[in-house]
Amino acid sequence: MNTLYSRKFLIFLLFVFVALNIFADEDKTIDPLWKKAMEIHQRAIVIDSHVDTPLAFSRGVNIGVRDDSVEVDLVKMKEGGVDAAFFAVFISNDDDDKHPSKDALQIIDRIYKQVEKNSDKAEMAFSVADIERIEKSGKRAILIGMENGSPVEDSLELLRIYYRLGVRYVTLTHNYHNSISDSSTAFHGKWYGLSPFGVDMVKEMNRLGMMIDVSHISDRAFYEVLKYSTSPVIATHSCCRAICDVNRNMSDEMIKELAKHGGVIQINFYSGFLSPEFKAKSDENYEEVIPSVKEIRSKYRDDKDAYWDHMVKIWKESSPESPEIDILMNHIDHVVKLVGVDHVGLGSDFDGAGNFPKGLQDISGYPVITYNLLKRGYSEEDILKILGGNLLRVFRENEKQRTE
Ligand SMILES: [Zn+2]
Repeated sequence: MNTLYSRKFLIFLLFVFVALNIFADEDKTIDPLWKKAMEIHQRAIVIDSHVDTPLAFSRGVNIGVRDDSVEVDLVKMKEGGVDAAFFAVFISNDDDDKHPSKDALQIIDRIYKQVEKNSDKAEMAFSVADIERIEKSGKRAILIGMENGSPVEDSLELLRIYYRLGVRYVTLTHNYHNSISDSSTAFHGKWYGLSPFGVDMVKEMNRLGMMIDVSHISDRAFYEVLKYSTSPVIATHSCCRAICDVNRNMSDEMIKELAKHGGVIQINFYSGFLSPEFKAKSDENYEEVIPSVKEIRSKYRDDKDAYWDHMVKIWKESSPESPEIDILMNHIDHVVKLVGVDHVGLGSDFDGAGNFPKGLQDISGYPVITYNLLKRGYSEEDILKILGGNLLRVFRENEKQRTE
């Protein structure tokens, strides 16, 4: 290979890249609304309450460098002005996981290792105070949320251990029922809400100051959580059923109750939960790829990481064209009109979903949301709440409820 030629070519590419960026920046500075949006975005504490990036850690991804095989890395987070993100410890419950706690502990270890390896760019955060301090230092704050409570294995002792390891929310279940709660996407109720252990777990989470995530759980389970929880709860990655009628989105009545209890719904960026048109087309395409899904399932029966890697690839490949960013903004508007600006935030589902609105292909796209909020007439105060302030309020309320 002619190395001189390839070096020249690389320099040329670098020149093109720099030139394009200068023009792109110029574009943004010409538009006064962009300038204002960037200023507000810089001032805000921007928090993403749900990313599935740890799914990629087992295949050697290093979040300290730009890696286009993931939607979230520390470089793109910085570009997108995202100060903090909850990394999901996701344990699927669509099969009988024999070692959910072992699997969860391995993922928690991988998150710590990623942050330790990149300590110049990121720091683990366990509290509101940590997020505020790390944001000031210019680093990214990485938090842990557990998606699906199966690793708790019906043990409040294990729940407390996860809290001590830094888990600050638990999504009670995922696509299927578990021993804690019914799921919004499984047929025939198992518990018709929460299980007796689920009720105990809600109370213990309140006592610990650990947030309860109501995304994915059934409607009945949601109302039961509100009945027993003395702290406000979060939906870390859910959208509005009134706009996109998907079971795992929240109905207007649920959003009203969530708000009445001081909680927050963090809007999911996945196109299939935002746009009914996208969802219909995507369902159609999915029918065509079902044979390959079955093939992957049997091929990677013993390798969950490889299975999820391939599933995300399939979702991406069979995805229809991304919708416009307006559809995401419509969900935010809907919540605001329904219950006010204090109960909505952002939880992307990056690295776990596959298709996102135009301009939001990865976490570096976050300023587009701030720009569009301004365009829709939101004040700076409102924007700061949506970008992270509301979640911080709920997190703080949970911390206050903690008793020894
Ligand atoms: Zn999820």
